[in-house]
Amino acid sequence: MAILVYVENIEGKFKKSAFEVVSYAKAIANEQGTDVTALSIGNVADEELNKLAGFGASKILKVDQDQLNQFINKAYAAVIAAAAASEQADLIILSNSFSGKGLAPRLAAKLEAGLADGAMELPTFSGSDLQVKKTAFSNKAFATEVITATKKVIAVNPNSHEPVRDEASATIETLTPSLDAADLNIVIKDIVRATDKISLPEAEIVVSAGRGLKGPENWAIIEELAEVLGAATACSKPVSDAGWRPHSEHVGQTGIVVSPNLYIAIGISGAIQHLAGVSSSKTIVVINKDPEAPFFKVADYGIVGDALEIVPKLTAAIQAHKA
Ligand code: FAD
Repeated sequence: MAILVYVENIEGKFKKSAFEVVSYAKAIANEQGTDVTALSIGNVADEELNKLAGFGASKILKVDQDQLNQFINKAYAAVIAAAAASEQADLIILSNSFSGKGLAPRLAAKLEAGLADGAMELPTFSGSDLQVKKTAFSNKAFATEVITATKKVIAVNPNSHEPVRDEASATIETLTPSLDAADLNIVIKDIVRATDKISLPEAEIVVSAGRGLKGPENWAIIEELAEVLGAATACSKPVSDAGWRPHSEHVGQTGIVVSPNLYIAIGISGAIQHLAGVSSSKTIVVINKDPEAPFFKVADYGIVGDALEIVPKLTAAIQAHKA
């Protein structure tokens, strides 16, 4: 079985998810007695490409045509499909990131492949069938899917598979797929960064707050805690609806789904619609003044008390520990 992994970069630097998916693929390759080929699209220096070898890629394909420096769903799907054909890959793995969520179904349709998106564990094989556990219904449930099609696409949830170092010596080859004009019929004129903060869907630590914070004037304590932890900030829906925080921070059923290693929920009740977006977090810490708050039922650690008093103390304690 040949395995192809598509790895994402931002401005020439690989995202953490790139190393996660290479590592995920390498674990499968070890079991199946095969190798991992990684595909990078856009302008990435060879030194950066070589980092993929440290996680088990033994061949790196780079596609660095100028038109592909910006992410264009149709064009990227066409490139990945072309690489899958040239490598005769039966299993294509990518991250279930924002762009991966758009790419994976398009790619699967192009390849007439079976798709498991939102994978949270390594798959198991039964003959040529592949079975994988995944999140479903906005993370409110888990499903186990079996892919019986010859070609298979897996989109792996960010933060669900830790990158494991597995040194391979890799070759770098340039692939120059021919692209249809129809695949390039979107031209990205300009990209304006909304924020320089850590990207919420891929953050390893998320500090999130709700209506218990009383108002936007109290958010400095959330920002400070996030800063010392190197975390992204998030919020509940009513908080963004009220304009206390931007909608880009709203997590839950109708917002962003996160699966960080650590989710700290501060002054959030834990309504089912909020939990839908955070329940696959590895460790959940809840700070709430109401000991009956539903969030405590899914918490790994809980602190009952006033967030406005506890959060600054927590920040100071972490700062003191780091000093
Ligand atoms: P509240 O429910 O008001 O809870 C505030 C919490 O703060 C309470 O538990 C309280 O005990 C605690 N508190 C108060 N003061 C303090 C203090 N000083 N210190 C510590 N704790 C304190 N919600 C989402 O978040 N995301 C979604 O995607 C989402 N989608 C929805 C979709 C639908 C169709 C519907 C109907 C609802 C949706 N909601 C969503 C809303 C959801 O049902 C809840 O209303 C919402 O999550 C509650 O937000 P909250 O916990 O911030 O506020």
